[in-house]
Amino acid sequence: MPIATVNPANGETLKTYDALGAEEIEHRLATAEAAYRAHRTTSYADRARLLRRAADLLDEDVPEIGRVMTTEMGKPVKQARAEAAKCAKAMRWYADHAEELLADEVAPESAARDSGASRVLVRYRPLGPVLAVMPWNFPLWQVVRFAAPALMAGNVGLLKHASNVPQTALYLEDLFRRAGFPEGCFQTLLIGSGAVEGVLRDPRVRAATLTGSEPAGRAVASVAGDEVKKTVLELGGSDPYVVMPSADVGAAARTAVTARVQNNGQSCIAAKRFIVHADVFDAFAEAFTAGMRALRTGDPQEEETDIGPLATEQGRADLEELVDDAVENGATVLCGGERPDGPGWYYPPTVLADITPAMRVHQEEAFGPVATLYRAADLDEAVSLANDTPFGLSSNVWTRDEAEVERFVRDLEAGGVFVNGMTASHPAFPFGGVKRSGYGRELSGHGIREFCNITTVWHG
Ligand code: NAP
Repeated sequence: MPIATVNPANGETLKTYDALGAEEIEHRLATAEAAYRAHRTTSYADRARLLRRAADLLDEDVPEIGRVMTTEMGKPVKQARAEAAKCAKAMRWYADHAEELLADEVAPESAARDSGASRVLVRYRPLGPVLAVMPWNFPLWQVVRFAAPALMAGNVGLLKHASNVPQTALYLEDLFRRAGFPEGCFQTLLIGSGAVEGVLRDPRVRAATLTGSEPAGRAVASVAGDEVKKTVLELGGSDPYVVMPSADVGAAARTAVTARVQNNGQSCIAAKRFIVHADVFDAFAEAFTAGMRALRTGDPQEEETDIGPLATEQGRADLEELVDDAVENGATVLCGGERPDGPGWYYPPTVLADITPAMRVHQEEAFGPVATLYRAADLDEAVSLANDTPFGLSSNVWTRDEAEVERFVRDLEAGGVFVNGMTASHPAFPFGGVKRSGYGRELSGHGIREFCNITTVWHG
């Protein structure tokens, strides 16, 4: 894939970039290593001051960087601006909380004595340069949710961003530099995916985090495993959205539309499979389909647009194949299902019913505005359908019955259970999945500790 900005709204290539050569990569790795040696000794207060400055600069840049993201990957511009603002908030959250999250943990005296020590504590020390391989779908947020905690913990970042968002990638490097982080604390490597292995095998790189597809995660984790380096993987999802008879069905249907089509449907934590109890299936299907039909598809730079084009031509072709396969195997199209004529990689909001396990979409992630509807006879079938996927990122359940809530929280195989709402991330709460959705957590204290050397300090 060339490193280039290609406007998904019309397919026009706006800017191309040369990938870094071996010498330039070497220079950046050496710079990262040198920056780390200094950055690891700085105080939390100093790091927080720089991160708050980055947040302030980002707030000022919201309109411009919002427009750039929309140009590069097609999300509606109002959502792009919201993403940028959310990044500034996460930076401030880590600036405010990192020191307390990474404070020394003093072991209980009895445990220290039992080990023959006068005193034992656990200290969270940084690891070193961390490679971040990131996707285009939330091109600022995915990076910031790694970078803010990493920099506060005393690590430094090397970003290999998706090849279709180079301007956003370069903006991030520039942002941290303008905020005052010394050279090398956060660098963007304009490289193709083929160059990732060499960087990851370099001994100066201590760990890696990848957000993206399962094949990319597997490739990076294999190399990291071979090098015995820590990884965090945030991969795909096909989150269930379960609606039970006691739910507020109108609210569930309205929220379902947003949960499915946010970011043009290209979100890992978008609800993708709608599992609805038979008693409320018809009411939900009607309200949900009406909501999907009412969305305004169009130029993502327009304020009123709800759905823009998909980010890449290949992404649209993949989505179309999934829908066509489902239809050929008997799915009923309640709306959408046909790509429009004309320029840009648009795909309409689509609802498919009568899904069976024979269809690819039952097991694969639909990365675009395509919802699948399942009818569940009872709670057991709802749980079983929800778990019948290789993924386990998050889940959404709508019910007013506390016993049902407890059952879902006990049995859903996912890194999140959102009750009477839709999945969303927040800096204070851990984010991540199980099964093929990956491992490790981002955000909160769990996220910042992922790339720490958890050190036992024992005093005799
Ligand atoms: P992708 O194709 O996997 O790309 C993600 C990143 O990995 C890009 O920087 C890509 O570089 C790189 N990459 C791809 N193949 C690689 C390889 N073999 N070795 C090293 N690096 C490689 O994913 P995407 O299409 O950008 O993003 C969509 C996927 O990400 C979906 O499955 C979505 O669910 C998932 N996602 C997960 C989360 C989460 O938090 N769990 C969040 C967002 C998205 P190039 O661009 O140069 O190929």
